[in-house]
Amino acid sequence: MSAISSIDFLIVGAGFSGLVTAERLTNSGFRCVVIDQRDHLGGNAYDCYDETGILIHPYGPHYFRTNSQRIIDYLSRFTEWQHVDYEIKSFTRGKFWSFPINLNTFEEWLGRSSNEEEWSEWLAQNKVAIDQPQNSEEVIVSQVGWELYRAFFEQYTLKQWKLHPRELQASVCGRIPIRLNRDNRYLTDTFQALPAKGYTAMFQSMVDQSPGVEVKLSTSFSDAKQQYSYQHLIFTGPIDAYYNHCFGALPYRSLRFERETYQAPELTAREEISGKTGHWQPFLQVNYPDLDVPFTRIVEIKHATHQDIDATTIVKEFPEDWSPGKEPFYPIPTDESAALYARYRALADQEPDVSLIGRLGTYRYYNMDQVTGMALTEAEKLIKRYSQ
Ligand code: FAD
Ligand code: UDP
Repeated sequence: MSAISSIDFLIVGAGFSGLVTAERLTNSGFRCVVIDQRDHLGGNAYDCYDETGILIHPYGPHYFRTNSQRIIDYLSRFTEWQHVDYEIKSFTRGKFWSFPINLNTFEEWLGRSSNEEEWSEWLAQNKVAIDQPQNSEEVIVSQVGWELYRAFFEQYTLKQWKLHPRELQASVCGRIPIRLNRDNRYLTDTFQALPAKGYTAMFQSMVDQSPGVEVKLSTSFSDAKQQYSYQHLIFTGPIDAYYNHCFGALPYRSLRFERETYQAPELTAREEISGKTGHWQPFLQVNYPDLDVPFTRIVEIKHATHQDIDATTIVKEFPEDWSPGKEPFYPIPTDESAALYARYRALADQEPDVSLIGRLGTYRYYNMDQVTGMALTEAEKLIKRYSQ
């Protein structure tokens, strides 16, 4: 049994939350150890090259976007960026549709050209008057009415969450914008780009710029507890697991990814469908809202990485129930789970020497820029507290 090392911070999780706090704290002179049970950096944002050389996102597509100059400035210390317009379509009724819903979708729906005026009038006649939408069904029907909601949202959401949109908080479907103009981009944020050399390279640079940090991969929290004595714990795993599920397990949704690789001759054969040489499908991501298709979306990341390779890789995403041993990809935003989380949060609030942060530590459906912001704020607070 090796001797116990004494450190300032033990940080569980080498994703955005863990590595950002480690970078900030080590640069303020604190001794930090970051551990992760996985064998790589980056948490769910990890990327790597597959056998054909495509830079894939093994835990699902990660489209970086933000409106925060503070976050761009901070992350730009570790990476350059490659601008990407994330273009996504929906495939139903045998064809591709512009998505998120906008004037182009309306024209496709009518089967003829139209304009913003007619589209606004149509919406005014079709949307359901609801002042303050209380769930994911209400948030969509209050903007576009029943027909478009049923075509693009209802079944997709049932498939993704195994819950009806009525059972999910408004923020879930409310993430998707509805537009009067012809903007086909999936996201609305002012900054939309991928790290030029990928997320993992960015995280490695973050580690390289964290003086004295020790990163131990393939290491569980229970092992690390035997090896280190620490002043403060930063835990970025699931909050219910941290408390041994004492109030019962929080619900999560998991995913299974099926990867398929295609070589140049097969891609040439698909050119009519893909509309582009060297690609399998015409767009970065195609959503499949219909319940009789078992996956929710197909992503061809080469549209975003712009790699000049005679092959491509597509990934189909199949939503799955979560059970121990599977990845808890999504917290499930319902009123019930929020109430259960609040009980765990009350426990956490009584532990001044433990910070439970990140998507799993706060059980929130947060994007990468939001968890980066949360980690920066937490690190500032801790630096102030422990520097005194
Ligand atoms: P994580 O990345 O989950 O990292 C937590 C780490 O803690 C994990 O590596 C885990 O192995 C480790 N860990 C947990 N428990 C233990 C333990 N007991 N011992 C040791 N290690 C432990 N965000 C966007 O901005 N844009 C997107 O397009 C986007 N797409 C997404 C698609 C999918 C399918 C998913 C699931 C998420 C997506 N996100 C996206 C969200 C993004 O993944 C998160 O915001 C971000 O990765 C959260 O970082 P984190 O460090 O808080 O958590
Ligand atoms: N959604 C939908 N139809 C779509 C895309 C999204 O109904 O074509 C709903 C679905 O409930 C999904 C949510 O909107 O979970 C958020 O979608 P997003 O694409 O942001 O999901 P994520 O990338 O976070 O999985």
